[in-house]
Amino acid sequence: MDCVFCAIVAGDIPSTQVDEDERVLAFMDINPATYGHTLVIPKAHAADVLEIPTDDLTAAAAMGQRIAKRAMANLGADGVNLLNSCKAEAWQTVFHFHLHVIPRYASGPHADGMTLPWTPQETDFDAIGAAAEQLRA
Ligand code: 5GP
Ligand code: ZN
Repeated sequence: MDCVFCAIVAGDIPSTQVDEDERVLAFMDINPATYGHTLVIPKAHAADVLEIPTDDLTAAAAMGQRIAKRAMANLGADGVNLLNSCKAEAWQTVFHFHLHVIPRYASGPHADGMTLPWTPQETDFDAIGAAAEQLRA
């Protein structure tokens, strides 16, 4: 399979690694959104959040939390976004599950200037209720 993140796990292409355990690997994003942008991936290939086994997802979430805490404590981040994209329509470009850990900086040398990527819509209780009903099924 032609998967860039599997190649990183195998050591066939280089990466700047941060941490790992038996299930997951954390390494620096090659085109970071902010200072310290890290990716957490399962060592076993899974395309996205719909496919990844729950144990690997749990391990990735725990590793993401560890990196987030270090971003706050060691990088001086003011906040952190944990982001996952599932399918191209939702911005996914590498089809091996990954959790983005994106440290956020309000000011200083790493001030990121990032903004919310959606526009909050007016509250429509009928639509909210209909969606909830479908999600309960
Ligand atoms: P996505 O767009 O799928 O949510 O995120 C894919 C991420 O992988 C991007 O932020 C991109 O910069 C990163 N990326 C793509 N190829 C490589 C690579 O070869 N090495 C590293 N370290 N990151 C990569
Ligand atoms: Zn893969």
